[in-house]
Amino acid sequence: MLTLDGSQGEGGGQILRTSLALSMCTGMPFRIERIRASRKRPGLMRQHLAAVVASAEVSSARVTGAQIGSQTLTFAPDRVRGGEYRFSTGSAGSCTLVLQTILPALLHAPTASTVTLQGGTHNPMAPPYPFLERAFAPVLRRMGANITLKLNRHGFYPAGGGELVAVVEPVGTLGVIELSERGERVNAYAESLIAALPENIAKRELAAIAKALGWNESQLLERNLPRNEGPGNSLHVTLVHRNVTEVFSAFGEIGVTSEAVAKQVIDEVRRYLASDAAVGGHLADQLLVPMALAGGGTFTTSEVTPHTRTNAEVIGRFLPVETDIAASGGNAYTVTMRARQPR
Ligand code: ATP
Repeated sequence: MLTLDGSQGEGGGQILRTSLALSMCTGMPFRIERIRASRKRPGLMRQHLAAVVASAEVSSARVTGAQIGSQTLTFAPDRVRGGEYRFSTGSAGSCTLVLQTILPALLHAPTASTVTLQGGTHNPMAPPYPFLERAFAPVLRRMGANITLKLNRHGFYPAGGGELVAVVEPVGTLGVIELSERGERVNAYAESLIAALPENIAKRELAAIAKALGWNESQLLERNLPRNEGPGNSLHVTLVHRNVTEVFSAFGEIGVTSEAVAKQVIDEVRRYLASDAAVGGHLADQLLVPMALAGGGTFTTSEVTPHTRTNAEVIGRFLPVETDIAASGGNAYTVTMRARQPR
């Protein structure tokens, strides 16, 4: 059985999620120790446990250590089955992270799946739904995946209560992707989502975006959501380029001004635009698992995060691929994954 150290590198929940995803895809059982050991509250949190429970159900796995706070887990998958699934992360745990855990397996299941996930859909520190829908899923579709996403209800941290549905058709094998250039700009807009909070928050966030990025009214969208989907506020900047769409996000918080929330997004957008790369730092770490299942591929990124480096290492434990990351000029890095050469 493969043994992983959950505290290696970035040391967060992604090591567990990538291990679950690739264990289900390869059939390789694993044991992970020191899960999130250096985090303030180490071990499995509710959101990670939800990913374990979902993975176990999808693959009829034998699991030990699946409790809140557990720092050791063993996971031995059986056969992955498609079908109708419904999972809840409890409160506002991220639905999108649970979906990304089981998605690779469901793409390789013998039959189609419909997955309903309840919990947080617009969370800090996780892919928010607009990112999943506009940035992540389209790249997978280019690799041949047939995924349909639908948001039934927004769920913001800490109230949660959101719901999203994913319909996943089996793909056989994902195609290799080459994403070196973003291409010319096709569209750019900012959206402020507001639920059960003063509208002025959205107006101030969008005004700050307009001022910093020089955008006009038609690029600023205020989305007033039903009160019962709140309280919550998120700000998303979507940049559509010919070859790739990126979404940069920040979340309203008590005690943080609307201008400060906008600044987080503006800084990310500026970093991305100052680079020639195709994808930003978040999409970069999330493309590695699909790429590994395709047997390789390449993209350029504006940022190489600890998540990306650690994810590449974990992937190399499950699959015979190696990842090369090299600065390639224009404030960009080229990430190339290929079959591991025998030494
Ligand atoms: P931790 O163990 O640190 O509590 P976690 O299990 O909640 O972590 P991480 O291991 O940090 O999660 O992984 C978070 C994932 O969410 C990464 O893939 C990261 O790229 C992604 N992510 C975080 N913020 C965003 C964002 N604004 N847009 C898109 N993706 C994001």
